[in-house]
Amino acid sequence: MRQDLTVNQFYFSNSTENKIYLPYFKIMSNPNCIFCKIVKGEIPSYKIYEDENFLAILDVFPNTRGMTLVLTKEHYDSYASDLNDELYSKFFLAAKHISKLIDEKLNVKRTALVMEGMGINHAH
Ligand SMILES: [Zn+2]
Repeated sequence: MRQDLTVNQFYFSNSTENKIYLPYFKIMSNPNCIFCKIVKGEIPSYKIYEDENFLAILDVFPNTRGMTLVLTKEHYDSYASDLNDELYSKFFLAAKHISKLIDEKLNVKRTALVMEGMGINHAH
């Protein structure tokens, strides 16, 4: 087994060993992350929702009216499929709640939900 794996990497062994997944990397706050700075209030934002785990803000460069970013309050890498099941579930429940708020406030029938995680490396 390789011993040189680092946090937040996985390694597909080319031997007969199984894949090795390491614990998902989480830090409380990354001082170089713009979303962490928004969560901490160091950068102003227009908040539309907040709970103990998530903050939802209007996107400063929306491609549609009401485009909202749901951010984890702690810093996680942005690939949502690497989140632990509990946080992933809470993330979707928060997004569902926020979607219904947007439906109501913008008087729309549906709000699209996208978890692409590109651009800023912070779960959103
Ligand atoms: Zn961050």
